[in-house]
Amino acid sequence: MIICRNVHVAYQNHVMALEDINFSLQGPTITGIIGPNGAGKSTLLKAILKITPHTGEIFINGDATKKWLKRVAYVEQKSAIDFTFPITVKECVSLGTYPAVGLFRRLKRSNWADVERALRTVRMEAFINRQISELSGGQFQRVLLARCLVQKADFIFLDEPFVGIDSISEQIIMQTLRQLKNAGKTILIVHHDLSKVGQYFDQLVILNKQLVAVGPTERVFQKESLLQAYGENIFVDGGND
Ligand code: ADP
Ligand code: MG
Repeated sequence: MIICRNVHVAYQNHVMALEDINFSLQGPTITGIIGPNGAGKSTLLKAILKITPHTGEIFINGDATKKWLKRVAYVEQKSAIDFTFPITVKECVSLGTYPAVGLFRRLKRSNWADVERALRTVRMEAFINRQISELSGGQFQRVLLARCLVQKADFIFLDEPFVGIDSISEQIIMQTLRQLKNAGKTILIVHHDLSKVGQYFDQLVILNKQLVAVGPTERVFQKESLLQAYGENIFVDGGND
């Protein structure tokens, strides 16, 4: 369970990114965080992860300390990730074991077995020895999800994982996330494309600096909330922001 109570985030340039956010989110779930550009979606994930300072309180499973953070796997928005870094797919996925194994420790055979299993799950096993720089956007995103799998986290946060990827990769990622939800995980996804919202998410957090709505998708994915978050333009341009 994730609880935000009176959460505010102001960046150093005095940009108020989030104002008075209050919600509680009970897993297992695949929850979408939606809202226009600059709505504070990425900031919300970073505040929960304590990457960005906030006021107010955030609890993960009842705990406001950093104790739970190693149980959270996180993939940043793609623009923030260095694709050209010279490591192989196998090495990249193995980085997910570090919260458990510790940095610079040797991986055990069972860790490598986890790496291979995770790559099979996202159907990237044939690419195990490739450089990550050789992958397509969708293949790379699948590898990043495999890295989350080996982390064996209870919480998985993905920031715009579907931007610029092929539809097969998108389907494989969603299939994998549904399996993870069925296994009890809490998954938060910052998402852009409103056309898939009903299909992908069981709960939504709709943001526009403030919390516009939170709850089961069928209840909150409604015209009033979307107008409040995106303004009139949303219905003019067909939902792209
Ligand atoms: P979203 O992910 O919904 O597009 P962000 O959370 O990235 O929005 O950003 C929310 C607001 O905070 C925007 O106005 C953005 O320009 C600003 N912002 C984000 N990161 C920083 C930062 N590191 N320093 C200053 N302002 C930031
Ligand atoms: Mg963002």
